[in-house]
Amino acid sequence: MLLKNCPEDVCTYIKKNKETYVPVGPELVQTSTFCYDDYQNFMDQSKDENNNYIYTRGANPTTSYLEDMLSDLIGCQKCKVFSSGMGAIAATLLTLLKQGDHMIMLNTIYGEAYSFAKYINKFGIDLTKVYIEKPEEVVQYIQDNTKIIYLESPSHQKCQMLDLEGIVQIARAHGITTVMDATWASPLFMKPFTYGIDLVIHSMTKYIAGHSDSLGGVVCGDTDIIDTISEYGLRFLGSVSSPFNSWLTIRGLRTLPVRMSYLSNAIVQFIDAIRDDPRIAKIYHPYAATGYQQELSKKYLSGYGSLFSLELADEDFDKLTAFVDKLSHFSIGVSWGGFESLVLPSFKGDNQAKLDERGLRKSHMRMYIGLENTQTLIDDFIQALDSVY
Ligand SMILES: *Cc1c(COP(=O)(O)O)cnc(C)c1O
Repeated sequence: MLLKNCPEDVCTYIKKNKETYVPVGPELVQTSTFCYDDYQNFMDQSKDENNNYIYTRGANPTTSYLEDMLSDLIGCQKCKVFSSGMGAIAATLLTLLKQGDHMIMLNTIYGEAYSFAKYINKFGIDLTKVYIEKPEEVVQYIQDNTKIIYLESPSHQKCQMLDLEGIVQIARAHGITTVMDATWASPLFMKPFTYGIDLVIHSMTKYIAGHSDSLGGVVCGDTDIIDTISEYGLRFLGSVSSPFNSWLTIRGLRTLPVRMSYLSNAIVQFIDAIRDDPRIAKIYHPYAATGYQQELSKKYLSGYGSLFSLELADEDFDKLTAFVDKLSHFSIGVSWGGFESLVLPSFKGDNQAKLDERGLRKSHMRMYIGLENTQTLIDDFIQALDSVY
């Protein structure tokens, strides 16, 4: 049996009804394709599938609305949204690099992005991964074919800040594009474009969407370069955000400032409560930094992300396991940026070599402070410490 048609065809029905209501929130346009009743109009629009509404792999009104909100907040000409942070990273690197090119990655990078950079060596793209403290140290690694300097600041796991102005100055002098993953600080607490970074990437899965219910990524920069990344990296790899995930991300973005200001205070309160405990060997977070690192934090951050790492003084792995299991307000899990607080030890029993490469102790763990009552989280952390150490 065939389904009964609407009173008229759906396009006409939607068009007519649209004029009779105005929703208060952004509209979820959950469609793969867009219909036209005028062929000339269709032909005109389809000349630019990345900016007109032809097919959701090119553009979708819900996703466009999100992109406009993001460009405004981040302070750039254009943003392009992807189905995940890795989608944005892969599309950007594959678009900008070609066979025979060389890329430099600085300090501790998000693991999957680093693995991807190594993987594309099979296409003849070379990688140099280096740990630096001061920008001038990067000069010695620059080659004639260096096209990209890729960085995170603060860095993954170790929360090490970099002097963006210094890096940009060196990159520009050599005609190198700077690509920065700025997920940690969110678009609110760091403004990489102010210092001349060319492309900024966020995993929106974390703070921007902010509810651990949706994945997303975004790359931001000048219109020309973003259009090129859309034309090749986005359309060919097809890591397109579903309209529903874009809609969830808009919902998150609207409360981002309120959440971030709460979390920035929460992490300070949390670190203050535990930093002098002799059972803790080290805290990796810009607020806990000293000397040059502290200067960089003051210069580049206007607030704090609530993801940090710590190393316990006692490196016994059975104790660490017991400690993590004793925490009742921190779930064990990857990712971060949502409501729930999380904990993730770095040692998994068989990855000592990876830890050594990154200079991390066996007792290293990552913690994410979420939106729960901060004192409850502190009490929970202390009771778990007391019961094991
Ligand atoms: C999670 C994360 C990514 C990857 O983003 P997905 O949305 O998980 O693909 C990239 N960079 C950083 C810093 C991240 O935390």
